[in-house]
Amino acid sequence: MEGSLRREAREILAAAGAWLAELAEEGVERIEAPAPAPGSAREPAPAAAAAEIPPVERTGDLFGAAPGARPRPTLEAVRAELGECTRCRLHEGRTQIVFGDGNPDADLLFVGEGPGEQEDLRGIPFCGRAGELLTQMIEKGLGLARRDVYICNIVKCRPPQNRAPHADEAFTCRPFLDGQIDAVRPKVIVALGKPAASLLLGRDVSITRIRGVWHDYRGIPLMPTFHPAFVLRQYTPEVRRKVWDDLRAALARVRERSGSEPQRSV
Ligand code: URA
Repeated sequence: MEGSLRREAREILAAAGAWLAELAEEGVERIEAPAPAPGSAREPAPAAAAAEIPPVERTGDLFGAAPGARPRPTLEAVRAELGECTRCRLHEGRTQIVFGDGNPDADLLFVGEGPGEQEDLRGIPFCGRAGELLTQMIEKGLGLARRDVYICNIVKCRPPQNRAPHADEAFTCRPFLDGQIDAVRPKVIVALGKPAASLLLGRDVSITRIRGVWHDYRGIPLMPTFHPAFVLRQYTPEVRRKVWDDLRAALARVRERSGSEPQRSV
């Protein structure tokens, strides 16, 4: 117990250290303490570095439960709420919505950026070249079947020319990503690449700096790592080793949290 508290404290310190190093790199010299609000002890901290990324939206209203209740919607309810979405401009170029793939009760949930060409054509996330590498990592590296994990993206429609999703597009799609996370209730989330890590952490991060460091997303341990497309571009032993280390750490954390093997499909 004490050991796990110590480990958590070390992880929090490491995450805080990485964040402060990033702020320093960006030229931030000091952080203002929040001014006390009238009638309350303290005001919530300012969104500071997350200027471009709006704060976490509660999905409670959207999926029919009281705000703050951390409801567990079904994936079907989240998909139904998404409908034939036209909420942002990405719908204009899509062939189809790419919602998610895998075990609805998975212990491990991967979040990528957005569908590419193959994904847009087939309606399945990570089914192109980057997806083949991700599948290999899951199957050969972690010894799981792809159907044992859950895979989704921060946006459900293909961005033009495979560009990164814009902040407003990611923000518009976010309640559906949160809905998927609430539905699956994974023991660990793996954020693949900078856009996914930045969205989930609410600030613009440097993936090189924060990968391999445990973070937290709404009470769920979050491991940021390199995107498989980046690994394909930088196919060096060092990059591959880092991703393996991160994925193995994620699996170990799943085992620790479940006291057993990760959830497998039957
Ligand atoms: N890259 C992603 O981020 N997601 C996909 O689904 C495919 C490629």
